Amino acid sequence: MKYPIDDTIVALSTPSGSGAIAVVRLSGKEAISITNSVFYGRDLTQQKSHTVHYGTIRAADQELDEVVVALFLAPHSFTKEDVVEVSCHGSPFIVQKLLQLFVLQGARLATPGEFTKRAFLNGRFDLAQAEAVADLIAAESQRSHQVALDQMRGGFSQQISLLREKLVYFASLIELELDFSEEDVEFADREKLKELIEDIHQVVASLMESFAAGNVIKNGIPTVIAGKPNAGKSTLLNALLNEEKAIVSEIPGTTRDFIEDEIALDGIVFRFIDTAGIRETEDKIEVIGVQRTHEKIKQAAVILYLIDLVADTYETIEKEYQWLLQVGKPFILVGNKLDQASPELLVQLKELDIVYISAENKQHLDTLRERLSSLLREQSLDTEGVVVTNTRHYTSLSHTHEALESILEGLEREVTHDFLAQDIRHALYHLGEITGEITTDDLLDTIFSKFCIGK
Ligand code: GDP
Repeated sequence: MKYPIDDTIVALSTPSGSGAIAVVRLSGKEAISITNSVFYGRDLTQQKSHTVHYGTIRAADQELDEVVVALFLAPHSFTKEDVVEVSCHGSPFIVQKLLQLFVLQGARLATPGEFTKRAFLNGRFDLAQAEAVADLIAAESQRSHQVALDQMRGGFSQQISLLREKLVYFASLIELELDFSEEDVEFADREKLKELIEDIHQVVASLMESFAAGNVIKNGIPTVIAGKPNAGKSTLLNALLNEEKAIVSEIPGTTRDFIEDEIALDGIVFRFIDTAGIRETEDKIEVIGVQRTHEKIKQAAVILYLIDLVADTYETIEKEYQWLLQVGKPFILVGNKLDQASPELLVQLKELDIVYISAENKQHLDTLRERLSSLLREQSLDTEGVVVTNTRHYTSLSHTHEALESILEGLEREVTHDFLAQDIRHALYHLGEITGEITTDDLLDTIFSKFCIGK
């Protein structure tokens, strides 16, 4: 559904439910006059930007609540429009009444992400930065928070814009050649163009590479707990998750919901995949178990491989260890059921690098966690600098990459300028998609509908 951008929108901007205070936000030309029509205190239409005012809100001569109103006058606001933030008492009833009142006075309930969409349309920031707002709100770990923050401040988009500008310059030279096509002149130095394209190509490729790491930061490291049936996989999973649950609920005022299959270590989230499969402890047919294990391991980035110190022999453990080496993914060999392990076996195993635990008794789980986070540091998830975390950006980058390859190929084969111009246009188009210089309404709708209402 399309809405005009010149009306005034309103939404609850704090989470719904009861709380000490709630903030209702309005944005648009009438934001101040609408608020003023139900506000008893100062005349809000006569006040300066960035001021707060105490007063009461009344509906049909009945006092609804005491509130504090903050004013942000265009263009010095988040949306670059007049914005009013009404802080009221955090009761769902008051909020509901307040929203109704504002709608009666001519405001419209905002659609999800509409405040941010307006900020984008009014040139407050580019599209990649707008998307970073959503990521920032959803960030669950220190690293994902940092990456979103960097992106919101424009780190990622700046790099793209810079590249695009350079390319625009060459595009204009080539387009100029098209105008003089009769005369067969070359304004754009082919060698310099090639150098530039190669530079951009390299940057685009490294941005694409960063996506793997970026995705890990944003969505967590896909981790699998594997091992034979009865090794204690579900016991370990539950132990890790329950301790995580305890940690999360100990943090006062935490807004992070406990997530069923994640643990956070040193600001990095490990997401256990196929937790349902692990928890299905009934019906353990060995063959299916092994097949499943292979499947799961394919999807994982990190493997916790459990050996059963009670049931397994040295020979089987050695075999499994060799197999893991072949798989070629980072893994930790975890010896479970330490409480009942035979000393002889432990002596035999002393050459292998094993973390010994007892899942059932929650013994040495800290050691395991430490190993897990240091394993990752070794894998150099070194993501200083610009990181791509958004699938949409990745897609645009890979389209750019294709176009660049075809420019380079064209330069090699000395194709005519119209072919060259076309490929450059493609590259420009896809780079522009990332920052929002090239957009369609549909694209905007899809992006902003992922936000929550009030954002
Ligand atoms: P899964 O099939 O790999 O998921 O294994 P389970 O987690 O269902 O555990 C299999 C059996 O091993 C259960 O009876 C657990 O109680 C037992 N078990 C798990 N961890 C330990 C442990 O550290 N010590 C001992 N003695 N038994 C354990």
